[in-house]
Amino acid sequence: MEKKAGYRIITYRFRLYSQRKDWLLETRDIYNRVLGFYMDVLLKEQGLSAISSGQQIMRKLELLTVGARGQDSGSIKYPLPEKKAPLYFRRAAINEAIRIWKSWQKAGIHPMSLEEAEGKSFQASPIFYKGMYKDFTENHISLKLWNGEKWVWESCRLDTCGRIFPAEGKRLSPVLKFSGGKIMLHVPVREEVEDIRTVKERFLAGEPVCGAAFPSNDCLAVLVILDRNGECTKSLFIREGKKLSHSKRQLLNRIKKNRSSMGMEGPEEKKKPLPEEENKYLKEKIRNLTNAYAHKVSRQIVDFCEKEGVCILAVPNYKQPINLNQIGYLSATSYDWLGRRIIGYLRYKAFGRGIVVTSVSTKGIASTCHICQEPVKRFNKRNKPSKNYYGGKNFICPNGHRGNSYFNEAMNIGRRFLFENPW
Ligand SMILES: [Zn+2]
Repeated sequence: MEKKAGYRIITYRFRLYSQRKDWLLETRDIYNRVLGFYMDVLLKEQGLSAISSGQQIMRKLELLTVGARGQDSGSIKYPLPEKKAPLYFRRAAINEAIRIWKSWQKAGIHPMSLEEAEGKSFQASPIFYKGMYKDFTENHISLKLWNGEKWVWESCRLDTCGRIFPAEGKRLSPVLKFSGGKIMLHVPVREEVEDIRTVKERFLAGEPVCGAAFPSNDCLAVLVILDRNGECTKSLFIREGKKLSHSKRQLLNRIKKNRSSMGMEGPEEKKKPLPEEENKYLKEKIRNLTNAYAHKVSRQIVDFCEKEGVCILAVPNYKQPINLNQIGYLSATSYDWLGRRIIGYLRYKAFGRGIVVTSVSTKGIASTCHICQEPVKRFNKRNKPSKNYYGGKNFICPNGHRGNSYFNEAMNIGRRFLFENPW
């Protein structure tokens, strides 16, 4: 039961908007020139490889390139060409150079010069150390940039793209990234984790497991807590599926109506947004609605596990990634991808709270009995039990075991983790 506290680093990706893309690019280029310069020094000074501490290597490099305080600049062995580069800008580039240099050594690559090395020019993303950025808030950051003449503060707008802005104090140095046409700011965040044990360590320590199923219809998630004998000690049904599908259906009907009214003209209609545009907006609304539900349900699941002291959460392994363009998010009855989305959120929400998410094969989880493993028939109150009736809320097996289909599925997931793991 011994927990193991630790931390993890998660990178948050924000969109950055600036009037001066040219300054951002110029700053990146200088960063890479400084990086290349230090790579060159590292290759020339092979003796440095005997030093293991990165801090000490940096100190030596600074002595070789900018000298000690009061040192005559004429006696510096490798004068840094970018004389005006701020201290922390330079240090970020030096650290990056040391990192690359060490990775080359580890891989057995020992070029004698940059010319001989594969990467003569570098395309690294500048890291903004303390002193190189300020006024960092949810929607703003000031970066110190080279404007062609001097280093200036440039105010940039940030968009968190709907993600929660990481708490103050835990943020590490942001990294400027150019991705396609977009400018991004990657912010690594250090999160304390109350339990960093692996799934195997937790299992071997005898921890109970929570099995989770994500059925369709009215029920968005079913949770069962299993003791080590595979017996259910507690369960939770997260309903609200009906509410979600109702709201979805309303939006879908509006889309349908807009489609059938396409082609209308007249001065009155011109004032309204075009149906196509409105449909775009409505689709976005459906997406947001589903996201909100996935967030809410994943939060409820984590809360439940925490309250019940469960630190292993087993979920079905939906292999295919979610592709909203391919999967009909317009089809109000298709929920399996909502399950995937919930699992996606769970993975990062749960771990921070000491709960690890593990996945099990989906084979037969809905079609076999969790007690005897025989194939089940599913039915609703008014229907006859049938093997092919997957939507049935109830199940019955040849040995007479019967009950709620969703519960059966969650039990199968939990037991599969307990009894079919490799340990
Ligand atoms: Zn059975």
